[in-house]
Amino acid sequence: MNALTQALAAADPAMLSELEALYKDLHQHPELSMQEVRTAKIVADAMDKLGYEVTRGVGVTGVVCVLKNGAGPTVMLRADMDGLPMAENTGLPYASSVTAREADGAEVGVAHSCGHDMHVTWLLGAARILAANRGAWQGTLLIVFQPGEETAEGASAMVKDWEQKGQGRFPKPDIILGQHVMVGAAGTVSYRPGVTLSAGDSLKITLFGRGSHGSQPQTSIDPVIMAAATTLRLQTIVSREIAPTEPAVLTIGSLQAGTKENIIPDDATIKLNMRTYSEDTREYMLKSIRRICCAECDASGAERPPEFTTINSYPLTENDLVATQKVAKAFGQQFGDKAALAPSPASASEDFSIFGRTWGVPYVFWFVGGTDPKVYAKAVQDKTVNKIPSNHSPQFAPQIHPTLETGLQAMLSAAGAWLCSGTAA
Ligand code: ZN
Ligand code: ZN
Repeated sequence: MNALTQALAAADPAMLSELEALYKDLHQHPELSMQEVRTAKIVADAMDKLGYEVTRGVGVTGVVCVLKNGAGPTVMLRADMDGLPMAENTGLPYASSVTAREADGAEVGVAHSCGHDMHVTWLLGAARILAANRGAWQGTLLIVFQPGEETAEGASAMVKDWEQKGQGRFPKPDIILGQHVMVGAAGTVSYRPGVTLSAGDSLKITLFGRGSHGSQPQTSIDPVIMAAATTLRLQTIVSREIAPTEPAVLTIGSLQAGTKENIIPDDATIKLNMRTYSEDTREYMLKSIRRICCAECDASGAERPPEFTTINSYPLTENDLVATQKVAKAFGQQFGDKAALAPSPASASEDFSIFGRTWGVPYVFWFVGGTDPKVYAKAVQDKTVNKIPSNHSPQFAPQIHPTLETGLQAMLSAAGAWLCSGTAA
């Protein structure tokens, strides 16, 4: 334990019930990416009251809070705030029944199915302990509530706003820390030096043919055939061009063409997502996708080359080795054998690393288990861990206790590794 987690352990138990109430409130009122107006107001008002210097509207709905407390390192702690465009199906008494309109006008359910409501609660709770125990640490805190993680827009929007309005507006961090709730026994944390999350790239590819009557194929350039051949051929990138020891994923999640059985349409659209664990593989695959799409269009005699649009792009999350060692040591002291080294990087992506990558600042991102420990232990025994509803499942919802406490302890023990040097117990 350090002075901060000691302060947490000694905190008034009313704080935990208040945080639980806040969590349930956020859970019931999820907001879509870059529309986190209510959530941002709740956190900004709370941080104001705690004595932080609060700047609202950084990168649309982002909130940046600064607390200076003597000489020492500047530590940035980050949480994301957005929900997902999906209906919740957890059956919980505090489940969301919110609906909202997406950019195209379609009505969708909205749910905190990635657990960002837990991240916000953790960070507010940690901020509260830090503000109330200024004698326990020294340095500067930069607490960042980020919008739009699920669309990869939020971190970029904040960094851009930061730069446009003057970089000196906020102190530059020495270290950036963040955490995510995921499937794993509640009460445990896991971390990994180096690559910890994959890069994720989503593309929309439009293939142009020439429409015609279904009875006169000779007058068409059939984009359905083009899309079908392209889909199959794209699958050979991972299976034939990437070494079997190099993990990579290419999924075509959407394939659309045409309206009616006897009309050959003008075009077809492929939407794909890829995950990679090294920058070289990422660049190689992006090039291969273009090569295959262009070649298939040529093979069909298309009169126009395909069009490529980036839907979103998440960089690799690659934890700093030295900083991760420091976090690991703090976790070891705090959690003992409930803190573990993750055996492999997770096949998920985050825009968290954009802050550190843009500013050249080391960062560490780790995971906090949110599954009922009994359910998790049984699933491990039965080899059915893959069946536990994961983030982005309509059934995903962390077990509040001890997930709430564990995330607070994790954030405070990691932050304390920088802020409490000299005061650590
Ligand atoms: Zn997510
Ligand atoms: Zn998430």
